[in-house]
Amino acid sequence: MRVIVNRHQAAHAPPQETDNGLPVPPWEVPDRVAAIRAALEVRGGFVFEDAPPGDADAVTGLHDPAYVTYLRETGAELAKARGAAPRFVVPSVFPFGPAPRVRGGRAARGGYCFDTFTPITAGTYAAALGGAAAALRAADLVAGGGDRAVYVLTRPPGHHAEKARCGGYSYLNNAALAADRLSKLGPVAVLDLDVHHGNGTQHLFYHRADVLTVSVHGDPELLFPYFSGFEDETGTGPGLGFNRNLPLPPGTGERKYRPALETALEVVSGFRPAFVVVSFGVDSHEADPIGGFRLPTEYFAKMGAGVRQSGVPVVVVQEGGYNCDVLGACAAKFLGGLEGTTGTSA
Ligand SMILES: [Zn+2]
Repeated sequence: MRVIVNRHQAAHAPPQETDNGLPVPPWEVPDRVAAIRAALEVRGGFVFEDAPPGDADAVTGLHDPAYVTYLRETGAELAKARGAAPRFVVPSVFPFGPAPRVRGGRAARGGYCFDTFTPITAGTYAAALGGAAAALRAADLVAGGGDRAVYVLTRPPGHHAEKARCGGYSYLNNAALAADRLSKLGPVAVLDLDVHHGNGTQHLFYHRADVLTVSVHGDPELLFPYFSGFEDETGTGPGLGFNRNLPLPPGTGERKYRPALETALEVVSGFRPAFVVVSFGVDSHEADPIGGFRLPTEYFAKMGAGVRQSGVPVVVVQEGGYNCDVLGACAAKFLGGLEGTTGTSA
């Protein structure tokens, strides 16, 4: 299986995130990618390929051009920082209400971001654009018919990024960009298996009938992103009926996860997609520090085998997963199941 690598990922390495007003060590770190790559190299059977250079024009079809410019220009300003000047920006104020006014940089920070977990650094834009380029390359490969499945090995994640807001460690929505490109060729199903609801992907396709979004995740009443991912969010306008959320309680293990995944896969196959894009997270693993689910490593092979049953070309985009000791094994299991080399059906 071909693996598209974002070689700019390490340019984004915030020194901290902010939780309840306090600085805490970041979970979303460059070592995550190194851990996955090492495990895939040991397993063998993967061909690693650098993504082509990123192109801002390729992301502004889905993301707001002003937001993309904000990410680029904020990073460029931070690159000039010297002495005690801050090396990252994070919002303190979130413009809200019927007519929020965003005139200056301090308002823009919160206008273009929905949380305090997602700092922008000098290297954020390059890393995010590299991930987008990797996802688009993967989409082109499966669209070309030569590859049945391509894995996008990247960070920062993307599935929380909305049209014009970063959040949840996500800046550009890699999976959504791949899905949008593939949607020019036929119906696309996005299956989000990260433990957190893919609010950004839902947001971007909520009004569309040509891209189905299905997500299995932790109950947002208790788990990030908190404001989105409930069962009654089903789409709007032409998109009504083309969004499906399957929230599960904290502590969910294989026994509770399996029927939800089966339902998700049935919804996907009922849509008869030409392509499937998987937002793949390992933060549903029992050893993840922030997910709260209890899936064992072996189960990831069954998840991959379940997706394989769709029978159509698949792009797998790496999203979350924050225990570097298990990330690689789980990714290898999932991709093995998807290829049909390990695992049985979900
Ligand atoms: Zn996650």
